[in-house]
Amino acid sequence: MMPATPAGAAQPANPHAGIAITDDDATIAAALADVSVPTLLLSLVHMTGDPQYVRGALRPQGLFLNEVQGFMSPDDQAEARRIALDVICRFRDAGSVLPPPPAPELIREMISWLVCEDVPDEYVPMMLEEMELDGADARKVAFAAPAAARDDFPVVVIGCGQSGLLAGIRLREAGLPFTIVEKNPGVGGTWWENSYPGCRVDVGNHFYCYSFEPSDHWTEFFAQQPEIQAYFAEVMRRHEIEPHVRWNTEVVSAVWDDASARWDVTVRAADGTESVLPARAVISAVGQLNRPSLPDIAGRDRFAGPSFHSAQWDHSVDLHGKRVAMIGAGASGFQIAPAIADEVAHLTVFQRTAQWMFPNPNYHERVGPGVQWALRHLPFYGRWYRFLLFWPGCDGGLAAARVDPAWPHPERAVSETNDITREIFTAWIAEQVGDDPELLAKVVPDYPATGKRTLQDNGSWLQTLRRDDVDLVREGIDHIDERGVVTVSGERHDADVIVYATGFQANKFLWPMEIRGRGGVRLAEQWGDEPSAYLGITVPNFPNLFCMYGPGTNLAHGGSLIFHSECQMRYISGCLKLLVEGGRRSLEPRREVHDDYDARTQRELEGLVWSQPSIRHSWFKNAAGRIRVLSPWRLVDYWAWTREPNPDDFVVD
Ligand code: NAP
Repeated sequence: MMPATPAGAAQPANPHAGIAITDDDATIAAALADVSVPTLLLSLVHMTGDPQYVRGALRPQGLFLNEVQGFMSPDDQAEARRIALDVICRFRDAGSVLPPPPAPELIREMISWLVCEDVPDEYVPMMLEEMELDGADARKVAFAAPAAARDDFPVVVIGCGQSGLLAGIRLREAGLPFTIVEKNPGVGGTWWENSYPGCRVDVGNHFYCYSFEPSDHWTEFFAQQPEIQAYFAEVMRRHEIEPHVRWNTEVVSAVWDDASARWDVTVRAADGTESVLPARAVISAVGQLNRPSLPDIAGRDRFAGPSFHSAQWDHSVDLHGKRVAMIGAGASGFQIAPAIADEVAHLTVFQRTAQWMFPNPNYHERVGPGVQWALRHLPFYGRWYRFLLFWPGCDGGLAAARVDPAWPHPERAVSETNDITREIFTAWIAEQVGDDPELLAKVVPDYPATGKRTLQDNGSWLQTLRRDDVDLVREGIDHIDERGVVTVSGERHDADVIVYATGFQANKFLWPMEIRGRGGVRLAEQWGDEPSAYLGITVPNFPNLFCMYGPGTNLAHGGSLIFHSECQMRYISGCLKLLVEGGRRSLEPRREVHDDYDARTQRELEGLVWSQPSIRHSWFKNAAGRIRVLSPWRLVDYWAWTREPNPDDFVVD
């Protein structure tokens, strides 16, 4: 859970300046043993105003995602900690009073110093905003409209996952009346539903959290589902959002009425009763991955034992001593297998396509008490730490994903960089598999690296597959019967329980809701299998409908969906501001603006690895092999485009 500031401690004016230090020298020294040393050195600059800590010989030597010591030698780290202990004790003794903040040029220097590369100018404003070194939440949109105008603008938000909760927070800050409709009994969306064993996030949590909420509470660097769900519950409490939420309630339909410029949102409560919520605007925050996809395998209903989807885990089924068949091994299956292998009598994993995985030794590591101490006490430590996690996953991945048409081995890789990535990933897999050519042949993917969702790996997946009581089956499934799974060669795999880790119906946005826009046009019909939205947010013919995590916004190359949601919600807030302050009725994107964006997005996607025909199965692709779920754009571009809406992009009534 998120800690409060200790009782009696003074709240600093800048929430990131740290709580006054009162600990003794030994406590501080012990805390420093855990911390990221490059981040620590930056905090010293804030504490002293002295740039010497980024201008001396002690400096990070390189950058790799989630490697937070910057490849500094143990001796250099020890020396830095010794210096830091002295500085921090003097800072404490002087009352933890900060000097004036570093000048912008020095901050600029610190940014590039931390990540060992010259961060281009265009990224600096985005990163400064993300870090909030000035303590200001720049993504909050202030509304100047009088209360009456705001009161007349009720908004319905569909879904209370990370994006719906964010929408609620921003709407509350804006003073607009709103209702969040959530089909589940609690907050979290995907983090509510996916309670399968081993479920955890794979973006570092000190970055995978709202930019404006503290991050000093995580107990693991990549927290497990209960902790993440608890985080959203706590954020909801802090922002007093719960009174606005209708739990256990599904949106059945939303119908636009041109005459009144309102949406009628029909909702169905748990007891089946339906009611209508009138809304001037609707924000869809339903996510992309929440409608389970069960495979179309003959005989699926004949299985005699329990069976369930990974996102609908049946916790009443005791797996202890059972033979378990797990069909599907993408991101979910990859986490489930290691988590249940010890418990079950036997596990058979049916994997149609092997996955690329990325070495991350810290994936299951706990956050030491020193890190939490540093996050609470060391000025701006947490903000720089956030940047350190963000930067290596920010846009660099796009270069490795870009197709070089001149590259001569398209089945293997899409470019030289992509081929090098393949070699690194393959070496990581081979090192773990050891002398087992049969297993190696099964687990090295046959498509270009990063072509599907690349998984974070600390070795637990391949360790699991190497167990005597675990089988990996790569052969296709012919059918399922009462006793278990039968593959195309006729081999039987008897099981007591079947787990379907077979993913989601990602391409069916807002499904199964009935959304009718101008002139009664149905969204499902307009979209068909090719959903699209301008910036992934607004849709022609659907005035005052805003999507969060809509078409073309999933991130396969880096960043975090929370970052993307914050971009989207700022943009949506800007649109609402245009409407409310301008006394306008409705807004929808101009058809040509939408179509141009869509054409550019599709062109861009075609030049990226995820579209490669050698990738036969991927939830990124629709039935025709086209990609509608992903963003091909640099984060810095998407951030810039969504800072505020351009009124010229819209038909405003
Ligand atoms: P997924 O990546 O779509 O994987 C589904 C698995 O089921 C794949 O192995 C797929 O094989 C297999 N499958 C599907 N239909 C099949 C069929 N008819 N016959 C045989 N196998 C079939 O779904 P997921 O694992 O639930 O992950 C979905 C997304 O959720 C991830 O990409 C990620 O974005 C997110 N997620 C994130 C985390 C995390 O943060 N750590 C964890 C879980 C999920 P093919 O590969 O051949 O299609």
